[in-house]
Amino acid sequence: MSDHPKGAILQRDKKTYAIVPRTPVGMVTPEDLENIARVARKYEVPVIKITSGQRFALVGMQKEEVEDIWKELKMDVGKATELCLHYVQACPGTAVCKFGVQDSLGLGIEIERFFAGMDLPHKVKVGISGCPFCCGESFVRDIGVFGKKKGWTMTIGGSSARRPRIGDVLVDNLTGEQVIALTKKFLEYYREKAKRKERTARFVDRVGFENIQEALL
Ligand code: SF4
Repeated sequence: MSDHPKGAILQRDKKTYAIVPRTPVGMVTPEDLENIARVARKYEVPVIKITSGQRFALVGMQKEEVEDIWKELKMDVGKATELCLHYVQACPGTAVCKFGVQDSLGLGIEIERFFAGMDLPHKVKVGISGCPFCCGESFVRDIGVFGKKKGWTMTIGGSSARRPRIGDVLVDNLTGEQVIALTKKFLEYYREKAKRKERTARFVDRVGFENIQEALL
């Protein structure tokens, strides 16, 4: 069993740890920011980095500090190494952006809440965008969703990793509820059929996009 502190990732120096608080779709409150700043000053956290997944990584803490830091942060642990949904990123969508035609933040928060606890064959990342410009990087996420005037388009099997892959368009013109239902269906199918530690990009390559599309729709 690992003797690493809960919610902490051992760093390359093999001595210090990093933590990533859970910040669905990159949204934080003033209290979160104050707590992060207070903790960073008190424990002299050497590196605070905003990640590509719209999260804060606090890096370089000592093992014995981690538990107290989590208590003082008053934030949930963000998943970073487990085989599950790691994060949902989203662009500002209709909440802020003049090009937005759908509420990407609202849908992203719902999806994050709905699937946060689900065990999966590998990590899964979701990108939600409020229009086809796809600032939420939808086409290079395991599940991508982007808004058009008539509804949401959903993609699967995208990846920006070492062997990048552009996601395949599963279906157009979905409501938010339909996106959640289809996400559930796809993740259950992936959980059932994928090999352990097989990312969705390789899973879609192996099984074939058309076969998955036929099974899901
Ligand atoms: S994807 Fe569209 S709605 Fe979202 S930030 Fe980019 S331009 Fe705006």
